[in-house]
Amino acid sequence: MRVVVLHYALEPLVSMVDPEGRSVVLVVEDEPSYQEALNVGLTVEGFAVVSAHNLAEARELLVSAKPDLILLDVMLPDGSGTDFCREVTGSSSIPVIMVTARSSEVDVVLGLEIGAADYVTKPYRLRELVARIRAVLRRPANDVDSEEVITIGPLRIELLRRAVIRDNVQIELSRKEFDLLTLLASRPGQVVTREHCLDSLWWGLELSDTRTLDTHIKRLRQKIELDPANPKHLVTIRGVGFRLDQ
Ligand code: CA
Repeated sequence: MRVVVLHYALEPLVSMVDPEGRSVVLVVEDEPSYQEALNVGLTVEGFAVVSAHNLAEARELLVSAKPDLILLDVMLPDGSGTDFCREVTGSSSIPVIMVTARSSEVDVVLGLEIGAADYVTKPYRLRELVARIRAVLRRPANDVDSEEVITIGPLRIELLRRAVIRDNVQIELSRKEFDLLTLLASRPGQVVTREHCLDSLWWGLELSDTRTLDTHIKRLRQKIELDPANPKHLVTIRGVGFRLDQ
């Protein structure tokens, strides 16, 4: 792999649509150590990174760099990341991952309707962060023209509304349950490995700790299957993973 370390922080704000077709991540972070580590780490992981150290730079890069995703610190020198998140998600479909320094900030991020796609808490592991970035980038764009519906047997999965309907009745799913169902539904009739489920949805967990996954599969079955003990759609392939059948 070719490794390119980019130091946009030292360069003027220039228009940048990545020539190699990489996803462009706008990192808004005022702490130099985090900024530097993210520049290097995300570049190695195959992303094009543009850096802003405050909201003023972030607003310029939002226009000039056309980021695919924004990684946004909460406390910035010229304002609050939560306000900027509202601005971005209110006027575009660019997903925002909030980076919080304390658990109290997590409460703020979750408590306010700011439209963030996800959040991470410092200190985070790069592997976990990258998994979250990839998961968010895989989600369908929040765009009125791109509403997608997946039909699996009697289930209608509306990605934009994050709604699942069976026999005209909406099924209440938790966020994780919906993400898991969507992951399986993205490859109907094909086995999705346990490892892939864990990597996509439970970034930080060790592979040996798979009870959480099993619990979610069980709950999902109770909600979507007519006879959860004899599942017709959400099938376990023992020792490998799961398959969603029509
Ligand atoms: Ca900060």
